[in-house]
Amino acid sequence: MLKNLINLIFPKLCSGCKNLLLKNEIILCSQCIHDLPFTLHHNLYPNEASKKFDGIIPIEFCSSMLYFHHDGIVQNLIHDLKYRNQQKIGTLLGNWYANDLKTIHEKFNFTEIIPVPLHSKRLEERGYNQVTTFCEAIAKGIEIPLNSNLLFRNRYSKTQTQKDKEHRKEVSNALFDVKFTNLDHNKHFLLVDDVITSGATLEACTRALLKIPDAKVSIITMAYTLS
Ligand SMILES: [Zn+2]
Repeated sequence: MLKNLINLIFPKLCSGCKNLLLKNEIILCSQCIHDLPFTLHHNLYPNEASKKFDGIIPIEFCSSMLYFHHDGIVQNLIHDLKYRNQQKIGTLLGNWYANDLKTIHEKFNFTEIIPVPLHSKRLEERGYNQVTTFCEAIAKGIEIPLNSNLLFRNRYSKTQTQKDKEHRKEVSNALFDVKFTNLDHNKHFLLVDDVITSGATLEACTRALLKIPDAKVSIITMAYTLS
């Protein structure tokens, strides 16, 4: 009864279209689930996401789960996940994507999941890293560990999504770094971020991970920005 009352005062809305959710719907309404723009990158390699890194940095595999359109369902989902503490969205997407990634994992044999880290100051402001629940669901689904201690961010940089060369250079130089021991050698890291836009952040993270002897890096993201 209390739950009904709470629902009446704070009705649950679909993260995609902001319409009221039906009783049996969670996070997304069935129409939005039906309309989700899946990339199907995992069935196609090389693909448009992996091509971002061609000739720039060696990666083994790369795929994004969904297309990010401005004003679309995916933009709303990522916004709610990132700024409205809707961490369940990461779990939902991660559970779905883990199923798609099982055969990819059989082929590439990833050893650890590495989330792109937030700077500690940003983590303090937001209280959570928006990719954590997505990473946790995938780690569970393909049965490999999640390691949040290996890769870290050196310096605070403001939120920015510019795609210009200056930005790319800046992010690369802002530098991520790794703290590793002999036990981290010879691994295949599955690096995870929310959205690929320019690819600069993922490039900088990959550079850092490749400092580890005999490391291999693959990349997955929740969304891919069409530019
Ligand atoms: Zn909806």
